[in-house]
Amino acid sequence: MVERGGSRGVGNGDGGDGQTTAEDADPTSVFELLADETRLAIVRELAAERQSNWQWAGATFAELRRAVGVEDAGNFSYHLEKLCGPLVVKDGDEYHLRNRGMQLVGAVESGRYTGPGDPMRENVDYDCPYPDCDRPLVAVYEDQYFRLRCPAHHVFNGTALPPVAADHHTADELVAITMLEMRQQVQRARAGVCPNCWGPIEGQLPGTDASLSSQIDVDLPEDILLATFDCDQCGISFDLPPGACVVEHPAVVAFYRHHDEPIRGRPYVTLPFCHLDRGALESEDPVRVRIDVRLDGDRLSLWLDEETNVVECERE
Ligand SMILES: [Zn+2]
Ligand SMILES: [Zn+2]
Repeated sequence: MVERGGSRGVGNGDGGDGQTTAEDADPTSVFELLADETRLAIVRELAAERQSNWQWAGATFAELRRAVGVEDAGNFSYHLEKLCGPLVVKDGDEYHLRNRGMQLVGAVESGRYTGPGDPMRENVDYDCPYPDCDRPLVAVYEDQYFRLRCPAHHVFNGTALPPVAADHHTADELVAITMLEMRQQVQRARAGVCPNCWGPIEGQLPGTDASLSSQIDVDLPEDILLATFDCDQCGISFDLPPGACVVEHPAVVAFYRHHDEPIRGRPYVTLPFCHLDRGALESEDPVRVRIDVRLDGDRLSLWLDEETNVVECERE
């Protein structure tokens, strides 16, 4: 971690002193700023200056103009001045990209705004979990969404992924990446932070208005137990089988390790305790939902409360 000027270090670009404090910008004005090739090139160039640990580093007017390749100084100045404030800050004779500009460049480079990315459809190393079905699961990437499905049944697990992820990985690698992403989303939501917009989100078990069963084309029992999450900020909502809330629990990880079974990066669909029909409502007041994790005749039981916290676990 290197600091310049004594007050700014890694990830501290928007704070520290009055010079770097910016007003809130309207989302439309920020997108309008980037709707110009020269300005986008300036932002990318300044992001490259800050690329090492988000250090506060910039470039002078002349350096920047040379790097972006604009001959007309007046024209270049016009575009640079437009960026100053919302995305760029002037510090002495150097121009620096604000942290929000770094985030925008990351989103642009991921292909999220430019995709759709190349579609993909491939069999992967996991089979459908239904007892009467041994078809391999199919990984499908389409319109920036990755899903695992059985051709005879339905979609099991999926989430949005940017095109750059799909461009650089095989189908099996994408399964593991998708599952890591989904688990992070679940962990974040359970910590009260929306995985989509970072606003406050609330989990509830048993969930109210679960909609999962209406999205998949098989008959599920009416009384299926799901945890639901709703974000007030962006409006996103999703349902989870309660088992998905314990995948990262240390007792579950240790139980799988003890039985020499891999668990990291494995799709929920291949972990029986995450299936939709698992989880027993043992008590309603207080809410206690029991999840049994079984391997080789051994059992680990975990109990969740109404906010999906693990309140007890017991190994048989
Ligand atoms: Zn199947
Ligand atoms: Zn949200």
